[in-house]
Amino acid sequence: MSQPTRVIVIGSGFAGLSAATSLADKGFAVTLLEKNGMPGGRARIFRAEGFTFDMGPSWYWMPDVFETYFARFGKKPADYYNLVRLDPSYSVIFGPDDAVDLPADFAQLKQLFERMEPGSGVRLNEFLRQAAYKYEVGIHKFVWKPSRSITEFMSPKLLYDVLRLDVFQSFAGHARKFFSNPKLLQLVEFPILFLGATPQNTPAMYSLMNYAEMMMGTWYPMGGMHEIVKGMVRLAEEKGVQIRLNHMVKHIEVTDRSARRVITDKGTFDADVVVAGADYNHVEINLVAPEFRNYSDTYWKKRVMAPSSLLFYLGVNKRVPRLRHHNLFFDEDFTLHAQEIYETPRWPSRPLFYVSAPSVTDPSVAPPDCENLFILIPVAPDLNDPEETREHYFNLVMERLETYTGIPIRNHLIYKRSYAHQDFKTDYNAFRGNAYGLANTLFQTAFLKPGLKNKRVNNLFYTGQLTVPGPGVPPSLISGLVVAEEVAKDFASNHLKPNKPLASVTSQA
Ligand SMILES: Cc1cc2nc3c(=O)[nH]c(=O)nc-3n(C[C@H](O)[C@H](O)[C@H](O)COP(=O)(O)OP(=O)(O)OC[C@H]3O[C@@H](n4cnc5c(N)ncnc54)[C@H](O)[C@@H]3O)c2cc1C
Repeated sequence: MSQPTRVIVIGSGFAGLSAATSLADKGFAVTLLEKNGMPGGRARIFRAEGFTFDMGPSWYWMPDVFETYFARFGKKPADYYNLVRLDPSYSVIFGPDDAVDLPADFAQLKQLFERMEPGSGVRLNEFLRQAAYKYEVGIHKFVWKPSRSITEFMSPKLLYDVLRLDVFQSFAGHARKFFSNPKLLQLVEFPILFLGATPQNTPAMYSLMNYAEMMMGTWYPMGGMHEIVKGMVRLAEEKGVQIRLNHMVKHIEVTDRSARRVITDKGTFDADVVVAGADYNHVEINLVAPEFRNYSDTYWKKRVMAPSSLLFYLGVNKRVPRLRHHNLFFDEDFTLHAQEIYETPRWPSRPLFYVSAPSVTDPSVAPPDCENLFILIPVAPDLNDPEETREHYFNLVMERLETYTGIPIRNHLIYKRSYAHQDFKTDYNAFRGNAYGLANTLFQTAFLKPGLKNKRVNNLFYTGQLTVPGPGVPPSLISGLVVAEEVAKDFASNHLKPNKPLASVTSQA
């Protein structure tokens, strides 16, 4: 009997775990190698002084994608974690005495819009009707395409869908057809910031994010976002994935255009297929020999990255009553902040920022009568982040946070840790210290993103937030499932030979 095909997956982020689980489910013998001592990648946790801090993602949107993920394996999210819907979904702070809570209930949300701009409640219906179509096509069709070739998008029906998706119109222009109140515009443009580009540079197609947020809701897994990772790890192990933590991959050895061995700091693993879920650029530049790279240095230099982040994890020894679970400080000019991220990358003069206070919902993440705070300031990638700079921004945002909440939070800190570019590089080998991968601009969408298959090595695949479909937890889950399908198309689970002839090698991009 032939041996099962051995797949090595590199990286235990959402994408790596998703790919590994799906491949094991298909009968491949999967080993997952992770450099850190905890799985989850950017969604790890750490504990300090009785607090449990989620290190990265905090917004749980698109619950249907998580359901689809677990359903692939005959499971549901509730088998692994307890999800609650947040109400209000979040709060937007326009100034010390000017904040708006976004209700979960749609009728109340419409009333809120109507109060802020008469007539906008009705227009919100039409805006979301179009967004629903984009969600349906975008999330149920397009993001599942491996995007290995433009021809995947060439059917008349799909081309019709593409045109109706408004891919050639900017989100900013689209939103202004419906709303003119500057605060309402900020509310509808906020989810676009997740995509790592300005509303002017983001296709209007992404109003699907508004549908996700306003109609499907903002959710939270009790215990924190890392509960999703814990569930995925359990499922992966149930399927037989061997997870090796503290295994830093150093090199992927290629013989006869096939990746044959994966060399780590702890030993060497033989492979029939390799799926790299670590940062794409790191795999290209550091793990394969230059002649096997998919893309040149020039290609990488031209990529538009989503912002990086300066983060603070704070343990506060008292409650901060004015805070909601999610709080967006839009009390400064977004145009200036966006310029300082994208056009003239530098540390921002007066940044917007975001505060998550999961202890508002979940007593398990903080000691009694304490608050667990996570502060995120979006900043340009590739900046130097010395301690003095971090401290300057800490004081700058704390002034505003303390004025808004009326509590001298700095006097009540029992834990504080900062995290920025250098930490992303050290912990995840992050290209230019990125937090959320590539920006979702028109020219970095679908088949214009770094491809999920190596063009020179027949059994080397990529997954994760730098390839299709893009950054965010739901897209990373999808990325893992999509790459697993591609591996299964090219390689039978118990064959050592490719099912298909090798793709011919063309010149480097
Ligand atoms: C601060 C922050 C906030 C965010 N907020 C949200 C949010 O609210 N909602 C949302 O949906 N998304 C959010 N995101 C984005 C989301 O977290 C990411 O898109 C997603 O987690 C990326 O998953 P991934 O599997 O592609 O990559 P990663 O999580 O980075 O996984 C890659 C893994 O590869 C490992 N690795 C790297 N090099 C090697 C090597 N040489 N050998 C072995 N292993 C290696 C890394 O250690 C890591 O574990 C946020 C991200 C950040 C950073």
